[in-house]
Amino acid sequence: MKTYRKELWFETPTRRAFLNITPTIEECLKQSGIREGLLLCNAMHITASVFINDDESGLHQDFEDWLEQLAPEKPYSRYRHNGYEDNGDAHLKRTVMGREVVVAITEGRLDLGPWEQIFYGEFDGKRRKRVLVKIIGE
Ligand code: ZN
Repeated sequence: MKTYRKELWFETPTRRAFLNITPTIEECLKQSGIREGLLLCNAMHITASVFINDDESGLHQDFEDWLEQLAPEKPYSRYRHNGYEDNGDAHLKRTVMGREVVVAITEGRLDLGPWEQIFYGEFDGKRRKRVLVKIIGE
């Protein structure tokens, strides 16, 4: 069995952002040389997500609006977590959007559905953060 591990770094200029990282993950898969197996991709920070959904700008605005209704950024005082930080909302948003995705690898390709794309979801940006890619198979 082959294994592959890579850390990807992101720094978004805004507090919140959704980045389509599918091409980067496909490049990792190519580098790994693995043809059949499983790919795990997870955020290594507790205020960021990796998730799969549609690359459609209206939907991304819907996510932003929905998450702000569930866990508004402000007032910062609304969160007990914000004694020393201001990112209580970001922890909650990350939990809703998920930590990781697992994708099947078939014939050397990501075995995604027709509209599935892999996204990095940032909820407390403007600093460097990591995503882990681990691939196992043969
Ligand atoms: Zn925090």
